[in-house]
Amino acid sequence: METSNFIKTIIKEDIESGKHKEIITRFPPEPNGYLHIGHAKSIVINFGLADEFNGRTNLRFDDTNPLKEDQEYVDSIKEDVKWLGFEWEELRFASDYFEEMYDRAVLLINKGLAYVDDLTADEIREYRGTLTEPGKESPFRTRSIEENLDLFARMRKGEFENGQKVLRAKIDMSSPNINLRDPVIYRVSHASHHNTGDKWCIYPMYAFAHPLEDAIEGVTHSLCTTEFEDQRPLYNWVVEQCEMESQPQQIEFGRLGLTNTVMSKRKLKQLVDEGFVDGWDDPRMPTISGLRRKGYTPEAIREFVKETGISKGSGVVDSAMLEHFVREDLKLKAPRTMGVLRPLKVVITNYPEGQVEMLDAEINPENPEMGIRQIPFSREIYIEQDDFMENPPSKYFRLFPGNEVRLKHAYFIKCEEVIKDEDGNVVEIHCSYDPETKSGTGFTGRKVKGTLHWVEVSQAIPAEFRLYEPLILDNTAEDEEESENKTFLDNVNENSLQKINGFIEPNMSDIKAHDKYQFFRHGYFNVDPKDSKSSHIVFNQIVSLKSSFKL
Ligand code: ATP
Ligand code: MG
Ligand code: MG
Repeated sequence: METSNFIKTIIKEDIESGKHKEIITRFPPEPNGYLHIGHAKSIVINFGLADEFNGRTNLRFDDTNPLKEDQEYVDSIKEDVKWLGFEWEELRFASDYFEEMYDRAVLLINKGLAYVDDLTADEIREYRGTLTEPGKESPFRTRSIEENLDLFARMRKGEFENGQKVLRAKIDMSSPNINLRDPVIYRVSHASHHNTGDKWCIYPMYAFAHPLEDAIEGVTHSLCTTEFEDQRPLYNWVVEQCEMESQPQQIEFGRLGLTNTVMSKRKLKQLVDEGFVDGWDDPRMPTISGLRRKGYTPEAIREFVKETGISKGSGVVDSAMLEHFVREDLKLKAPRTMGVLRPLKVVITNYPEGQVEMLDAEINPENPEMGIRQIPFSREIYIEQDDFMENPPSKYFRLFPGNEVRLKHAYFIKCEEVIKDEDGNVVEIHCSYDPETKSGTGFTGRKVKGTLHWVEVSQAIPAEFRLYEPLILDNTAEDEEESENKTFLDNVNENSLQKINGFIEPNMSDIKAHDKYQFFRHGYFNVDPKDSKSSHIVFNQIVSLKSSFKL
């Protein structure tokens, strides 16, 4: 993270001035979906800042909307926060505070600062006014405290239908800040809650609940994204008028966005529900679980997020930057290996029939400590179809009739003959090899320009490779207007997943889920944790090797 930022400055001042002895932050996801890379930013900021000042961070589920929430999401969020490398001080649920929130609402009623309204949702919206027009007071605004207490108690008892009555804060219908025009703070919702079951049929609204949750937990700095900036006066009003002992300070920072990515949970859920992807953890999703399945490491995600910095402006960041960080992280960690995605058989005609020799190959030339692996070589190998052309253009340095190339870790081979089927398709290449040119012997007799990867035929292990393209073709920010005849779904890339069957080196027979490799010339791959079995190995491409991205 950059050495300083405006939030850090505030916290530092609060500690130096004695306003706070200890910093408490929270990460407050609503369990209505899986966490995405944007949440990782909030996690890194909340946990990171508390850590830096020896403070604490709670993981708190903001579970005040039972219709959209689910235990599956609670479980996945806990797993993802842990996987990212963070430990929460306490695990809390907003729903644990429903009783206290109710009492605070009663306190507001008693102070003449809240009333039960019978207007419909549509009417409330209409009465609220606009930026240029003041709001209109509800005819129910003048109900007596006694009547309000009675009605609110009956709302809780379940005497009213959904939408029949709400509780509103009585603030100012002509405030220039629309959030202060008597916001709804409780609604009737006859819905089972994943935590409280059927105990409640009224639920607090986010704008009322959130400040109370923070204050109850003694949160000192309540960090959120800038869309809540206009809510800050209401946040402070709730804390003050509900007479909360502790007074958290809300501070907003800019949301993270990524090119070619939609991030709102509503849209991600739609992609899952409508079958565009095979679950929240599909490797094409920007979710933490999707990135994990693709092969991203927590280190790469954390470093990426730190590099994006903390500012007030929301930034759409190039996805290439995220890729840069996983390459950086895996460079020294991932063993190198060779895999052929689209095999073409090569027969080395002057190599003794039946002979197999073992060749030494460095596991990671950038990290020699990783040692040496052995790979078999024989008369028959697979190379990549792309690495042969019968009639190549100039500057093609790979295999073509009469040309000599280097086989990585092995010998020079020269293309002597092209074998075709009846339809004229190339099915096999016959080559000669030169024993003098063996890799590692220091041969300098002549040079070749192309170096190809390959896999020995008789011992090659079949493997499936999954290659990915961006799921969303539009590389502008996701917040672009949607209309009835154009939604983000129109930008879904139909070719975002390609499955290919190829071969890998035989020394990889005991690989397991989440093992990561750099396949020579193909990039980094992860063993898929869901679909890969010892009888059918599946690799997800994490990222290719080349990038135009520079920090
Ligand atoms: P979404 O709009 O994607 O559904 P949300 O803001 O509704 O996300 P919450 O579960 O409420 O999701 O988010 C928990 C915390 O993560 C909030 O404090 C929120 O501000 C923060 N957060 C969510 N998305 C981003 C983002 N893209 N960048 C930074 N922080 C984010
Ligand atoms: Mg939210
Ligand atoms: Mg949301």
